[in-house]
Amino acid sequence: MKKRLTVLILFAGLFLSSLSSSAQKLSIDSNWVRDQEPFRIAGNLYYVGTYDLASYLISTTKGLILINTGIEGSDTMIRRHIETLGFKFSDIKILLATHAHFDHVGAMAAIKQATGAKLMIHKKDAPLLADGGSSDVILGGHGPMFPPVKADRLLQDRDLIELGDMQIMVLHHPGHTKGACSFLFSVKDENREYRVFIANMPSILGGTKFPSTRGYPTVGKDYAYTLNAMPKVQFDIWLASHASQFNMHKKHKPGDGYHPEAFFDQEGFDAAMADLKKEYLKRSDATQ
Ligand SMILES: [Zn+2]
Ligand SMILES: [Zn+2]
Repeated sequence: MKKRLTVLILFAGLFLSSLSSSAQKLSIDSNWVRDQEPFRIAGNLYYVGTYDLASYLISTTKGLILINTGIEGSDTMIRRHIETLGFKFSDIKILLATHAHFDHVGAMAAIKQATGAKLMIHKKDAPLLADGGSSDVILGGHGPMFPPVKADRLLQDRDLIELGDMQIMVLHHPGHTKGACSFLFSVKDENREYRVFIANMPSILGGTKFPSTRGYPTVGKDYAYTLNAMPKVQFDIWLASHASQFNMHKKHKPGDGYHPEAFFDQEGFDAAMADLKKEYLKRSDATQ
């Protein structure tokens, strides 16, 4: 056990030192690069991310879909996780992201280059992806924060992403970024079908001003829309961009077997949304 921990720490160290000069000034949470045993969530949906930065793998009859990548350099760990589960990294055909911040799209360029997968993102986050986050209204202004990459398809609210037997619906949930999105889809196992909601939770960055932020005049309106729209989504399984946002480590411990019901958590989702709404009301009151 102790040996394993040392190996993990060494591995995290390698990760940090492998970041490019552009990313070195960014503050990196150690849980963002800490290893996490990959596992099957439900049906053909798997967790392949780091301890806190969620990456989801969906297997289809025509290849793999990967949602989110973690920070730059995380592709090595994600690749190992995908192979541990018995899949081929080169079978990734579609790359998706919940929003274009460096902690979720840092390895997109590397994975796109290695696999030739088609990268799809909401049209309003595509400019951030293309300039490595330089133009981000809150975090940007200091040059690229991750290797820039161009999207192959620009998404809009309610678009459908199709591959083989899978269909994923895009739900535009702006605020956290202009093009932040959640994904809604069904997966199946031998027992039943599960409606899965990968929610981009509308957390508010420190520099956001309400009702408008410089470079993002509709930010207040966008948060209000998202806080109203998200609770209307119906689902069985709730997931998010960060493992901590949906209490993943309480629901799944290393070595746990297959247990989709562990991720049924309407109550947890409702509580998280109520907290975010409270935060929004407090912050928008204070800055108006
Ligand atoms: Zn973010
Ligand atoms: Zn994040």
